[in-house]
Amino acid sequence: MSSTTVFVSGATGFIAQHLIKKLIAKGYNVIGTVRSTEKGDALKKNLNSDKFQYAIVRDIQVEGAFNEVFKNHPEISIVLHTASPFTFNVTDPEKDLLIPAVEGTKNALNAVIEYAPQVTNVVVTSSYAAIADWGKEYDNSVTFDESSWNPMTWEDSKANALTGYIGSKSFAEKAAWEIMETKKPHFTLTTVNPIYVFGPQAFDSEVKDTLNTSAEVINSILKLREGDEIPAHSAGFVDVRDVAAAHIVAFENREAACKRLILHTDRFSSQGVLDILNENFPALKGKLPVGKPGTSKEDTDKLATINNDFTRKVLGFKFIDFKKCIVDSVEQVLAVNGSI
Ligand code: NDP
Repeated sequence: MSSTTVFVSGATGFIAQHLIKKLIAKGYNVIGTVRSTEKGDALKKNLNSDKFQYAIVRDIQVEGAFNEVFKNHPEISIVLHTASPFTFNVTDPEKDLLIPAVEGTKNALNAVIEYAPQVTNVVVTSSYAAIADWGKEYDNSVTFDESSWNPMTWEDSKANALTGYIGSKSFAEKAAWEIMETKKPHFTLTTVNPIYVFGPQAFDSEVKDTLNTSAEVINSILKLREGDEIPAHSAGFVDVRDVAAAHIVAFENREAACKRLILHTDRFSSQGVLDILNENFPALKGKLPVGKPGTSKEDTDKLATINNDFTRKVLGFKFIDFKKCIVDSVEQVLAVNGSI
């Protein structure tokens, strides 16, 4: 068992809660940042471990937001920066998404540079949004890999919530690598770049009517009724439990140092989700649309190829498949709602 202390920003997030559970299970001590004592206490109760403590960081974009945490905790040796706004429900993409993501990342790295000389590894949760050229995502002659970059400009990112989120992740990641380049700090940086993250919530108490942005993609399909139009959604997915595990390999495996890791398991479409729900949940029989079973590949074949062979080799574990990912998350939602 390790006595190493790991810092996790955005501890209440969908991904971070799984990550903290796994860190504790591996024997790490965790200091997580949350926006309020209420949120911190609720998480502490769920985790039920004296290996977890929280610190309050109300807003990651405020200059020096993380300084106090690092001043107060010289025992932190690993930093996992996951906090960033992930919502499409915004009025001003620049103010609500781009600026907090970029400033939050700069604040995290600069605090480590200034107040935490003992830190050896920093992992930033970036995104496939920082990898793909979004004009080419639906061009199946194109391949993206760990060296690819989203070329969207700041100006274009301001257009709407979706472009704002996409830009927020590429500009935040660029800011992190730029700090590494210009300040040459004492730690290594690894970025973890997941595509859509699905899977169960870390705790049943997190199952609400509306889930976090990515899990809600599946939840919204579960809310469809026979006769409803099926959303034309096709993209890539990775299970949240793999994303959590990858953040740990990102600092435990030296081969991940100074690298970008694309977390992508497979392509999926709304039809593919419906096929799994209709085949595996008798309780849903006759409630959901059926669509055209077995035709998911027609949608996913249109998408660009994602080559993450390097990431898979470094991680060294097999990703959870789509059926298990969907079945586990929907079983949890139905069990909590008392409909299974
Ligand atoms: P969540 O929305 O569940 O978690 C985001 C976390 O960041 C929450 O703890 C949130 O706190 C915190 N946060 C957001 N903005 C601020 C702020 N201004 N100040 C302080 N804390 C803030 O999202 P996920 O767990 O899904 O995402 C975690 C990370 O993974 C993000 O960086 C996201 O961009 C990235 N990612 C996610 C993907 C996905 O499909 N889920 C795919 C690719 C990347 P609170 O809830 O209290 O507001």
